[in-house]
Amino acid sequence: MLAIPYLGPQGQPLTIRFRCLQKHQHREYGHGKYNTVAGDPPRMYGVDSIHAAGDEIHLTEGELDRIVLRKIGWHSVAVPGVEMWFARHRRMLAGFSRVWVWSDPDEAGSKLTTKVCRSLRSAKPVRLQRGDVTETYIAGSEQALIDAMEAAA
Ligand SMILES: [Zn+2]
Repeated sequence: MLAIPYLGPQGQPLTIRFRCLQKHQHREYGHGKYNTVAGDPPRMYGVDSIHAAGDEIHLTEGELDRIVLRKIGWHSVAVPGVEMWFARHRRMLAGFSRVWVWSDPDEAGSKLTTKVCRSLRSAKPVRLQRGDVTETYIAGSEQALIDAMEAAA
């Protein structure tokens, strides 16, 4: 499995989540597509960006989308799905004048967008049409993400 370390502001490991990279029915092998250490509290991924960002920050649905936005230089955090967005996450992002929300273009994604936008007045949804952040990046490179953000502004 791909190990995804959750690092704190000083780069210290807080937890590790795991993503199975096999294209099979994960449940038949006794695990999920994503796997969390048992008993670990749900965390926001990439919290070092909260300290490093300026007035604005990006929020993605899933760790790998956050990695794509960081790769092009944007400070970002991620929550792995709508069930993982909690009030303490709202407080962590409350100081930003703009929080760009990059949910997946599906039903679960629109639930996340709705939940985040209801709890943060600074939240602004970015509409993706070709797929999630990673798929959009692969299809149209950095410019496709810039275009999507400009369309949302
Ligand atoms: Zn699997």
